[in-house]
Amino acid sequence: MAIHARFGKRLASRAVFVGMGILMSLPFVYGQRTVLKPGFNLFSPQQDVELGRNVAQDAEKQLPMLNNSRVDDYLNRLGKRLAAYAPGDKYPYQFRCVNDSSINAFALPGGFLYIHRGLIEAADNEAELAGVIGHEIGHVALRHGTNQASKAQVYQAPLAILGGVLGGDSMGAYLAQLGASFAVNSVLLKYSRDAERQADLIGTQILFDANYDPLYMASFFEKLNTGSRGTDFFSSHPNPDNRIDHVRAEIARIGSYSRQRVNDTREFRDIKRLLDSLPPAPKQGQAQTSSGERSPQSRQQEARPPVPSTKLRSFYSEYLKLRYPENWKVFGHEMEFTLTPEGGIFRNGDDSVIAYGVSVSLVEIPAGAETDLNDATDRLMESLRQSNPAMRLIRDQGRLRVDGKTGLSRIYENESPAGGREIDWIVTVMRPKGLMVFVFVAPERYFGEYERAFEKVLDSVDFTNR
Ligand SMILES: [Zn+2]
Repeated sequence: MAIHARFGKRLASRAVFVGMGILMSLPFVYGQRTVLKPGFNLFSPQQDVELGRNVAQDAEKQLPMLNNSRVDDYLNRLGKRLAAYAPGDKYPYQFRCVNDSSINAFALPGGFLYIHRGLIEAADNEAELAGVIGHEIGHVALRHGTNQASKAQVYQAPLAILGGVLGGDSMGAYLAQLGASFAVNSVLLKYSRDAERQADLIGTQILFDANYDPLYMASFFEKLNTGSRGTDFFSSHPNPDNRIDHVRAEIARIGSYSRQRVNDTREFRDIKRLLDSLPPAPKQGQAQTSSGERSPQSRQQEARPPVPSTKLRSFYSEYLKLRYPENWKVFGHEMEFTLTPEGGIFRNGDDSVIAYGVSVSLVEIPAGAETDLNDATDRLMESLRQSNPAMRLIRDQGRLRVDGKTGLSRIYENESPAGGREIDWIVTVMRPKGLMVFVFVAPERYFGEYERAFEKVLDSVDFTNR
């Protein structure tokens, strides 16, 4: 369930998630066109290039590269001309064709772009191909890959970052870990819908400035999305709503078409003919799609977290002590932390959402506020329901004792980020500093496996001297 954003607003400003929200980029209008800036990032632009170069080397070992200099030269001429219009830091762009018939393209941080042969074959004019390249350049310029990696890193080691200990060495180690190998489902290549909209905006601006009609970018994506031929592109670039409308609106902000746009070139048609004359590409992407395009549910079934260990270890905060399965990890800090197994966290847009485990928060109650356990719990649940509209109370279990203190226990069902439904067991206890909230979460079909572990965690809670 997505609880962090909601609690974050009510918590003190040291909550990591609040900080991330503030640091995220907001589009604003400067003059006419939309001005976008890269969001929160722990990496330097130079590190984007280093990381991208390392991953690119590995990618080229794994992928069937076309290695046709005429095609690659063409892509580089076209791509570099487009990249010259990209806002922000300049990157050493390079473009290469992958000999794969699936319709796909991807960009690594620092400007290493790969265009599948199938994508060039599917494009009907140069503006369509330029549209995809412009969109990918948008991801590079806005540093979406390392932005994603930074957010993942904050989630994995918030204490280290808060304490400022994530210095040269550990950052270098993280870079090495990310850059060690290329994976199609890498954190560097999984974009949120927001990132897609931003990349479309930059793509629109680039196409406009390079004298193409930017609508070809949106209509090409639309054509791929509704066409009979499947495409891998949308598995890493989720299709935003109303794409064409957004592109049209940005064109209106930039200005009117004063020049004759050149949407096709002889060079593009020559390259298409050249590809036609080559032996057909292996159908790797398609093979990958038939097994690779999975619903969140089946993906989760394959990558299910390990069952909770019956051995426990201790966690101490300023507000409580407790014990938890030793194969779980702790993320967060004093007032808001999560205990979760490997693979228990899912991405939902820009949020990290817990699908398996326990989230513990201390929701501060403003001084002088007249409230009690029942009232504070009702208010909390009201705000949780606003951020989790599918959430439904299935059982009010009334009172229970947590380390001798009175608590309330309620069971909800909700949509699981892992697919299907989840059970949220919510226990609240009033403490001197605020309302202590335990949220125990697991998909409905596995709740039985987790229930015993959850009970052990709750039984172990110790408020002594806290
Ligand atoms: Zn994209």
